[in-house]
Amino acid sequence: MNKTFYLETFGCQMNVVDSERIVALLIGIGYGQVDDPKSASLILLNTCSIRDKAVRKAYGHLGRFKPLKDKNPDLMIGMGGCIAQQEGGALLDEFPYLDLVFGTHNVHRLPELVQQVEENRVRCEETEFLDMETRLRLFPSRTGGDEVSRFVTVMQGCDNFCSYCVVPYVRGREISRPSREILEEVHALAGQGVKEVTLIGQNVNSYGTRQSGEASFAELLEQVNAVEGIERIRFTTSHPKDISPELISCFGRLEKLCKHLHLPVQSGSSNVLRAMNRGYTREHYLDLVARLRETCPDIRLTSDIIVGFPGETEEDFTATMTLLEQVRYAEIYSFIFSSRKGTAAADLPDETPAAVKQERFERMLQLQTEISRTTWEQDVGQVCSLLVEGESKLGDGQMFGRTTWNRIVNFPGTPDLVGQFVDVRITKSFRNSQLGELQG
Ligand code: SF4
Repeated sequence: MNKTFYLETFGCQMNVVDSERIVALLIGIGYGQVDDPKSASLILLNTCSIRDKAVRKAYGHLGRFKPLKDKNPDLMIGMGGCIAQQEGGALLDEFPYLDLVFGTHNVHRLPELVQQVEENRVRCEETEFLDMETRLRLFPSRTGGDEVSRFVTVMQGCDNFCSYCVVPYVRGREISRPSREILEEVHALAGQGVKEVTLIGQNVNSYGTRQSGEASFAELLEQVNAVEGIERIRFTTSHPKDISPELISCFGRLEKLCKHLHLPVQSGSSNVLRAMNRGYTREHYLDLVARLRETCPDIRLTSDIIVGFPGETEEDFTATMTLLEQVRYAEIYSFIFSSRKGTAAADLPDETPAAVKQERFERMLQLQTEISRTTWEQDVGQVCSLLVEGESKLGDGQMFGRTTWNRIVNFPGTPDLVGQFVDVRITKSFRNSQLGELQG
């Protein structure tokens, strides 16, 4: 019988990169990937536990596969990622139809684990954190494929312990990948036609600071900027407390660095930021924004905001609203506080009623929707350079690409443009994308 797998990925770019690795590893042991779980002999979920909603969604999807297992007892079902790391073997007790649980540090072991389940019909779990030396050897990297834009992992884990966040518990402590290896990967990607790289990690700004003799993040950006064939560089995620003056200056002097920065603020109130253990104040954050805009006047910023953190008063919330008005982010990704087991914030008294949090959240969205609309409408009539990534979901002879601000633009074009930079006049702006017309 043909061995096939179906994979679902939830969460951030780190999981996307882990899933790419899962695909390569399973293909390496003779599995073929399928789009329909009904035709798979192995179903895997790569999960996220950052918020309660993400956890419920993953469990909901897992539940959908139970009837398939009831019909076909040979079907193997596995769960990886952050929920697997957090819950470990308890998942096997809770879900009798689950065969395999693997943690965030154990992706490389997947071929052996799958073969164990397959051959011995045993259920297994592996969620141990690895030591630093082993992690350094196993940094995810991938070449091959035909995409024009790729993620490159530069660091993993986090030492910041923001009081609401599970990442340090499910991804482990911070570790930076040697710059030599990163550059080798970027050169290899450039050689196969990749035009844009996004350097990723939980907090790329502290890249290199834990390893003596390693480049700083600003130095790493300079080195990537020098790689021939790479035309655009992005990075995420950035912690405001770790942005150095050298990094800010990169936005003024590295011609390949895109004019977009995702700089999560989380709250506009210094009191709430202290309770979140974020390590900066409102004033410090605003000063960073001013310096970024001084260095690169047309940079566009995006951010994450948590509404209804335990103890957030109306005054604290107003501080977030005034910060949004002042910074004028192009987009925000906002959430109502979700208590996560094991984090410091889970023990904080939280007296704000859910209805009040919901009302604040909606007020904030209303304000931000208007700010985002005004930001993107400024582009209408302007000519923007796009890196063409592929055929648009709109179909009908439409292609799509991204501007330096990471905005998707759909335009009438032909598939031979993929991987090229084209000039497009923006004709319309929508909530999540823009429309354009090819120039010249
Ligand atoms: S910096 Fe804070 S929010 Fe970001 S991953 Fe680390 S602990 Fe979580």
